[in-house]
Amino acid sequence: MSVKIDGDGAEARAFIDKVESLSNQDLLACYQCGKCSAGCPMAKYMDILPHQMIRFAQLGLKEELLGSQAIWMCVSCLTCNTRCPKGVRIAEVIEALRQLRLRDNRNDHLHVRELPASELAKLPPIAVIGSLRKGTS
Ligand code: SF4
Ligand code: SF4
Repeated sequence: MSVKIDGDGAEARAFIDKVESLSNQDLLACYQCGKCSAGCPMAKYMDILPHQMIRFAQLGLKEELLGSQAIWMCVSCLTCNTRCPKGVRIAEVIEALRQLRLRDNRNDHLHVRELPASELAKLPPIAVIGSLRKGTS
């Protein structure tokens, strides 16, 4: 994926500050070891892997992150948090990204309440719980 940083960096800086504030995490604590991505059960479905999401967030790449499928693929299982040697709570960062996306009023993804019962029955409970949480936080 190609990345683009805005001209004076002010917008990127504001985005970084917002993500750090919402998640209560220090993004620069991450040194890109990749352990979070290696243990993520949803990594194979993601267009940006968890460690890449943290790197993108360090760089303030708002559009790439808020436009990604990966922030919605994360099921908040917290495996990444337990694996991080630097104590970065990746799941909270991803939750912050989802919140920012929802605040942008760009929520054009899955609406659980509109799914037919036959489809709902096929979904694992964690997917339903995770989706409801994403849509209401
Ligand atoms: S919380 Fe999300 S990013 Fe972290 S391991 Fe689970 S699915 Fe992957
Ligand atoms: S496990 Fe922690 S330090 Fe390693 S890439 Fe993921 S967030 Fe960064």
